Amino acid sequence: MLSHIVYLSDSTNFISWSLIKDILLFSDENNKNKNVTGILFGHGINFLQVLEGDKVVIKNLYEHIAKDERHQNITLLDFCPIAERKFKGWSMKGFNFANLPKEQQQHILNKYCDAGEYFYLPTETKSCLAFIDELTQL
Ligand code: FAD
Repeated sequence: MLSHIVYLSDSTNFISWSLIKDILLFSDENNKNKNVTGILFGHGINFLQVLEGDKVVIKNLYEHIAKDERHQNITLLDFCPIAERKFKGWSMKGFNFANLPKEQQQHILNKYCDAGEYFYLPTETKSCLAFIDELTQL
């Protein structure tokens, strides 16, 4: 059954674009082989990932990813059936927030994130998905 998993985690180290690229390098082929699509957003100390695919396949992948020592405090926000994929064509889309123009960054931060000294992502599934929708449409 086509399903998705949405989770948040804290990176063990400050997230650089090269860390995201390292993860994507491996994920691209691995996810393609498993017919998994999705997005990986990382900024500051937070990862937000959406995995889409067969229910059992993404559950196993999620459990595998959760053991990766590059992140911790993994919080599963959503694991449920979906009618269609949001990220068709993306075995794993990486998103580099730092590449957005400053005013777009500020708009997103003001709207969705509890931005104090650190950058915190929304912690509710609905807000996370709205956040991702807005990012991918920019
Ligand atoms: P592993 O022995 O885990 O590693 C294989 C390669 O991954 C290594 O050669 C190295 O390049 C890299 N690697 C693993 N751990 C480290 C580390 N601690 N420091 C530096 N490099 C390391 N994998 C997917 O297949 N699909 C995904 O969608 C996916 N999403 C991820 C999201 C996040 C936030 C993180 C942190 C990891 C994600 N991964 C994903 C990677 C996953 O956790 C595994 O590392 C990967 O699947 C390889 O697993 P493996 O057991 O085959 O090999």
